[in-house]
Amino acid sequence: MPDYTDYFAQVKKEMPDITVKIPIESSRGCWWGQKCQCSFCGLNGLSIRYRTKSAERVLSEIRRQFEHYGATEFIAVDNILNPLFFRTFLPGLRQLYERYGITFFYEIKSNLTDSEIQSLNQSGVKEVQAGIENLNDHVLKLMKKGTSGLENVRFLRDCASHGLQVHYSLLWGTPGETRDDYISLRRLIPYIQHLPPPKHIVPVALARFSPYFNNPGKYGIRNVRPSPLYPVLFGGMTDNYDRLANIFNFDLDSDNDEGLNMERSSFIDEGQAWRETYSGLSLVYSEFEEMLIIVDIRYGASKVFLLASPAKDIALFCLKGQTDSNIKKAFSDISEDEIEKFLRRMVEKHIVLPWDGGRPVRYLFLPVQVSMERMHGTMDALRSGEECQEKKTVSS
Ligand code: SF4
Repeated sequence: MPDYTDYFAQVKKEMPDITVKIPIESSRGCWWGQKCQCSFCGLNGLSIRYRTKSAERVLSEIRRQFEHYGATEFIAVDNILNPLFFRTFLPGLRQLYERYGITFFYEIKSNLTDSEIQSLNQSGVKEVQAGIENLNDHVLKLMKKGTSGLENVRFLRDCASHGLQVHYSLLWGTPGETRDDYISLRRLIPYIQHLPPPKHIVPVALARFSPYFNNPGKYGIRNVRPSPLYPVLFGGMTDNYDRLANIFNFDLDSDNDEGLNMERSSFIDEGQAWRETYSGLSLVYSEFEEMLIIVDIRYGASKVFLLASPAKDIALFCLKGQTDSNIKKAFSDISEDEIEKFLRRMVEKHIVLPWDGGRPVRYLFLPVQVSMERMHGTMDALRSGEECQEKKTVSS
């Protein structure tokens, strides 16, 4: 375990007001990459094999760092959270959070369930970096992420519901991506304006040790050369950049596909606009007595929807993303026509997302869950909104 004594002594002297976050390592390698390494991933050049400390050991290291330096903010430098930690590590972390206010940052896979996200939050993991990388099923498959676009949207909604701060990037330029992938992504963006946007929308990098680097021909990658950054960084001290570089430039046949390039650049612009206009909780719901209250202040309009059963129950059933046939089976006492009409209305209003990933369409309920207290905040914003155009009641 590192000894930061000198560092903290200097910080105390020179910058007494700053908050220091202590890095801590609970595992090395990647359990996902060990099974199926993401195509672009060049982390863990020496060994991707996942090795992890015991929960007791990590907890005792945190306690010791806290006692020595009084630090209450920790950053896990792990590539990925150990799924066993939900059972073994988080209960101890929760005690440290509740007793001393110790908080954590972790990198996670984006397929965590709603209750796992809640459990992270309750254990003091207040900030995560999630391996989302894309919101399109085809591209995620090309990347070998082991997740789907719908799952990623659901994950972002649930992080927002639990107040877990999530950092992630969207990558463009994945070998094999198509114009249609960007058309689908562009169709998706208007539905998810109320969810945390990506921190970055960046081109996929070709990293040493990645599957792309190790087997470029398989992915149609040609003309691999060290990034032009290296001569700048090293100022002519060497010309052996092929050996030295970690990041490389490359060419793809699709580089000259005008249609693809146009859709991609429109997607990047719309994604940037999402980042710039995101204003937090603009589509929320809360349960109050027998009703589901949905407040929507997106797109410069303000709307309230009140759903009573069975509409309320169908909406909540779609929290996990359900196929049309599942919904009809679960609500067999309601006519299929009525269910279809309700779903159509919710889709039109961008409250339910229809997900067509090449399989039967799945419907995902999009609003972020908030307490009635937070709902009042959104209602206040609604009341004071100059652009308040519409208040609607939908009951069934
Ligand atoms: S990108 Fe993340 S999840 Fe994928 S193999 Fe690398 S470390 Fe593992």
